[in-house]
Amino acid sequence: MRWSRFYLFTTREVPKDAEVVSHQLMVRTGMIRKTAAGIYSYLPLGWRSLSKLMAIVRRELGVAGSVELTMPAIQPSELWKESGRWAEYGKELLRMDDRHGRDFCFGPTHEEVVTDIVRKDITSYRQLPVNLYQIQVKFRDEIRPRFGLMRGREFLMKDAYSFHAGEDSLEDAYEAMGAAYERIFEACGLDFIRVEADSGAIGGSASHEFMVVADTGESLVLRCEGCGYGANQEKAETKGLEAPERRSEAADATVVPTPGKTTVEDVAQFLGVEPQRVVKTILYRTETGPVAALVRGDREVNSVKLKNLLGVQDLELAEQDLVEQVSGAPVGYAGPIGLDGVRLIADRSVEGVTAFVCGANQPDAHWVGASLARDVHLDRFEDILLVGGGDPCPSCGKPLTISHGIEVGHIFKLGTKYSEPMGCSFLDDQGESHPMTMGCYGLGIGRTVAAAIEQNHDEKGVVWPLPLAPFEALVVPLNMNDANVVGTADSIYQALLEKGVDALLDDRKERPGVKFNDADLIGVPIRVVVGSKSLANDQVELSLRRDGEKKLVPIAKVAEAVLDEIVGESPRPKS
Ligand code: ATP
Ligand code: MG
Repeated sequence: MRWSRFYLFTTREVPKDAEVVSHQLMVRTGMIRKTAAGIYSYLPLGWRSLSKLMAIVRRELGVAGSVELTMPAIQPSELWKESGRWAEYGKELLRMDDRHGRDFCFGPTHEEVVTDIVRKDITSYRQLPVNLYQIQVKFRDEIRPRFGLMRGREFLMKDAYSFHAGEDSLEDAYEAMGAAYERIFEACGLDFIRVEADSGAIGGSASHEFMVVADTGESLVLRCEGCGYGANQEKAETKGLEAPERRSEAADATVVPTPGKTTVEDVAQFLGVEPQRVVKTILYRTETGPVAALVRGDREVNSVKLKNLLGVQDLELAEQDLVEQVSGAPVGYAGPIGLDGVRLIADRSVEGVTAFVCGANQPDAHWVGASLARDVHLDRFEDILLVGGGDPCPSCGKPLTISHGIEVGHIFKLGTKYSEPMGCSFLDDQGESHPMTMGCYGLGIGRTVAAAIEQNHDEKGVVWPLPLAPFEALVVPLNMNDANVVGTADSIYQALLEKGVDALLDDRKERPGVKFNDADLIGVPIRVVVGSKSLANDQVELSLRRDGEKKLVPIAKVAEAVLDEIVGESPRPKS
C-alpha cells in the first residue's frame, strides 16, 4: 500500500475524552473515528489490525473445531421471550419495533438465535457435538461507554456456542476453546491470565475470564503467586480470615448512645473497639423483599455472591426510606438484633465474633456486648465476602494480590439454561429426549486490539506485536526529490510485496522528521529507511520499532532480511 493512496491521517491532538493510552493512540494514529458516544468507525489502518486479529481468531477456532456462520444483528422479541430474557435483560438491550409494531432488539449476544437454529436441525445424539461461531457487531447500551473500543456500545465480538449430549463432551469443547484463546492472546503479544469468573445464579457450572493485567482495566483480579489460583473479584474466595480475639461474652448486651456515629470507623472509635468487632449490617432491596447482610465491620459485602445466593434478579442497596421502614432508624443504625421481617444472611467473617457491636435499630444508638448465638440465632454462615488483596488464598493460604484487569475473553459452561426453556433437545441412544448441554465463548475483537496497544506502546506511539500490526514493514524514502531514493524505495517496496510481505510505502512528500514521527506513532514493526547517504554504498537502513536498533543492509538483500525479521518477530508455538 502506498501511503499517498491509503486513507491514513495521523494527528498530534489527543481527544479530550480519551483517558487511556490505547484510546489516545487509536485516535492519533487514525485507526478509529468516533461517530457517536461508544460508536466508532474503523478507519482503514484500524480495520487492518482488527482484520489481522479476526484472521488469527478464525485460524485458532478452526483448530478447536468451531465452524463459522453469521447470524442476524436484529433479533425478534419472541425468541427472547422464550428464554425469559426479554423481561430480564435491562437497559443495555436496545429495543425497537418495526412498521408492523413487532418488537425486536439489536443483539447484545446470540444464545437465543443460535439455540433456535440448532433446535431445528439437530435431533439425535449422533449429530452432536456442534460448535458454531461468528464474528459480528453487537450492541449494548452501556451506561458508561468509554476508553474507545474498550467499552463501546456498538462493538465487534467473536461469539461461539457449543451444544452437547452431556457434560463430558462440553468439558472437551471448553478445554479446546480455552486453549485456542490462549494461543490467540499469545499471538497478540498480550500478557494475560485465565481466572475463575462468576457464572451467575442460574448460569452453568463454570466460567473463566481471560484478563490482561493493566492499570486501566475495569475489572479487579485476585491472584496467588504461590499456587497460581486466580479469580475475578466477583468470584474470588478466601479461607481462614482471622477472627478478632475472643472475648468473654457480657452477661447481657446493652444499648448505648452513639449520637451521629453512622460509620463503622466512627462507631468503633467512639466505643473504643476494633472495627472487626463491629458487625456491619447492610440492607438491600430485592424483588422478594428486603434482605440484611451481615459482614465483619472492616469488610465489604460482595453483592454478586449475595445475589447468586438469594437467587434474585434485582439487588440494590436499600434507599433511605426502606432502611427507615425496616430498621426504624436512619441509615447507619441497623443491626441484626430484633430485625423482624427481614431475611438475614451472615458472612463467615462474623462467625467467630464475640462481644460485638451493632446498630440498635433506633436512632443514635448501638448494641455493645452482643452475642450472635444468644441474641441473633443464625443457623448458618455464608460466603458473601468481597475478597481483597492480602486475604489468604483459598487453596494454599498464601496472601492474594489484587490488580486491575481488562477482560478480553469469557468462556462459560451454560448447561441447559437456554436449551431447556427453548426446547432444544436431542434423543439419546435409548430414544429418550434431553435438553442439550451448552457452552458459550466470547472474545472482544476491538477490546483485544485496544488491550494489545495498552501493553505495547512507548512515549512515541504504538509498538505493534507483529501478528496484529496493520503492516509488517514500512519503507521510508527520505528525500522525495532524489530520483534514486524514490526509485530504490519503490523497487524495495515491490520486492517486499512479491515476497508476500504486508508493506506500506511512505511516498508522501513530507520532511524526514514528519515521516519518522509518524512511523513511530503508527508502530509498524519493521522499518526500511532509504536515504541518499547509505544509497551511495548500495545500502539501506533496517530497524525494528521495538528496540530501534539500526543496521545497514545491501539493497539486494533487503527483502530477505525483512523476511528474517518477520520470522524472528512471530510468536513461536510453545514447546
Ligand atoms: P464487561 O464485564 O466488561 O461488560 P461482559 O461480561 O459483559 O464484559 P461478555 O458478555 O462476556 O462481556 O462478552 C464477551 C466479550 O466481549 C468480553 O470478554 C469483552 O472482550 C467483549 N465486550 C463486552 N462488552 C464490551 C463492550 N461494551 N465493548 C467492547 N467489548 C466488549
Ligand atoms: Mg458487560
